[in-house]
Amino acid sequence: MAAKILIIEDEKAVREMLCFNLKNNGFEILEAEDSNSALDALKENEINLILLDWMLPGKQGIEISRLIRSSSEIKDIPIIMLTAKSDESDKVLGLESGADDYVTKPFSPKELVARIKALLRRTAPQKDMEVVKYGNITLNPMTHKVTDGDSNVELGPTEFKLLHFFMTHPERVFSRSQLLDLVWGRNIYVEERTVDVHILRLRKSFVSNSSKCIQTVRGAGYRMSN
Ligand code: CA
Repeated sequence: MAAKILIIEDEKAVREMLCFNLKNNGFEILEAEDSNSALDALKENEINLILLDWMLPGKQGIEISRLIRSSSEIKDIPIIMLTAKSDESDKVLGLESGADDYVTKPFSPKELVARIKALLRRTAPQKDMEVVKYGNITLNPMTHKVTDGDSNVELGPTEFKLLHFFMTHPERVFSRSQLLDLVWGRNIYVEERTVDVHILRLRKSFVSNSSKCIQTVRGAGYRMSN
């Protein structure tokens, strides 16, 4: 899924530049120009990362960062601070307020995108490592163990990734090309029918009715559903 980024920045031109570049890199963007609209956006959306300007009208970036770190529901959202200040002590202050990274204006969009991706990678694995359950199926990403009720299920690496993806995105239909993007990764060229082959193998790995959870949706793709 595209990561959702909240840009908190009062300068419209900077916001537009960020929006343009980040959307081009496949991110979903929400914008806020001050702390109030930012907190509203955080309440109403599941944000994956925050780009936070230092100098803002009303509450400053540092205050917003501290506020986020002290609110239980949103305290884990990674934050990158954007600022014109290049002073070392400001950098420390920014990081102490709870920001995970720091980018000094003017910055190259390419560098910012690289930092965003790195931070998302750094902060995402924990969630990816959680044990997931669906119906009688339990999947443990740490041990790579899958059980169906009491019995073990042996899966190849691709089937394991596919099952993990379906279990973490239940009840939603994904087309073959979406699955290739999201499970195999965007840069790999694989034919769409490869997906069908692995789905078939995945279903065959289950001896019980659990195989029926992986459903074909005619003309649309595949879905995990009971
Ligand atoms: Ca500003």
